[in-house]
Amino acid sequence: MSSNNSNKKNVFVLLGPPGSGKGTQAEKMALEYQLLHIDTGQALRTEIGLNSPVGQLAKSYVDKGQLVPSDVVMQVIMAAMKRIQPEQNGYLLDGFPRNKTQADGLENILKQLSLELTQVFYLSMPLEELVDRLAFRVSCGNCGAKYNTKLNPTQVKNTCDKCGHVGLVTRKDDQVEVIQPRLKAYQEETEPLVAHYNQLHKSVTIDARNTIDGVFEILSEKLNQFIASASPTA
Ligand code: AMP
Repeated sequence: MSSNNSNKKNVFVLLGPPGSGKGTQAEKMALEYQLLHIDTGQALRTEIGLNSPVGQLAKSYVDKGQLVPSDVVMQVIMAAMKRIQPEQNGYLLDGFPRNKTQADGLENILKQLSLELTQVFYLSMPLEELVDRLAFRVSCGNCGAKYNTKLNPTQVKNTCDKCGHVGLVTRKDDQVEVIQPRLKAYQEETEPLVAHYNQLHKSVTIDARNTIDGVFEILSEKLNQFIASASPTA
């Protein structure tokens, strides 16, 4: 099992445009390095599915491809961060922060918890390549395995390679008319955070056009500087 010698938890942020592979990499990183994966987009979709008060607030924004108000997102983050387990090596924030207000909010939370931001991983990808990644993205309705019907299709159409379930689903906000507003929100609100974290010498840029394994290999090299990994991955 991987472990961290100090009790102080690491705080990693995955920053990048929608479709750059944050979720895919985060799942691999969380498993390999025992990190608490906090995916704000997924957390909001779960709340929407439950029709909870947070979900009701978030729904219209998510459906339109707009950022959900930061106070709502901060509630989600606070609740999720409390779920850290003693054996976990830290937090992996996926899709948060997404604007300067949230970056400042994160700083406040970390101060309260006597934690520091360890490293931001910026998955860089030209915007024009993202549309195909998003428009053809599907996942298994049973196990959640991710595919892309154009770039990484299943062996049998509409059938999950991993669990054999028939029925791949498309996220509502991966519909073409919602993709452009999402990319616009990213450019206007989130991308400036790259310069912000570069100034703080906290960000490392990774070319997300590489293969899934190629990107993970680079991420692993960086993570190994902070955490002893469970087993060699490359
Ligand atoms: P994602 O799954 O990361 O693509 O996020 C899906 C949607 O959830 C986004 O388009 C936003 O509407 C919302 N969302 C996710 N994370 C945040 C965040 N940190 N701040 C505001 N809205 C968010």
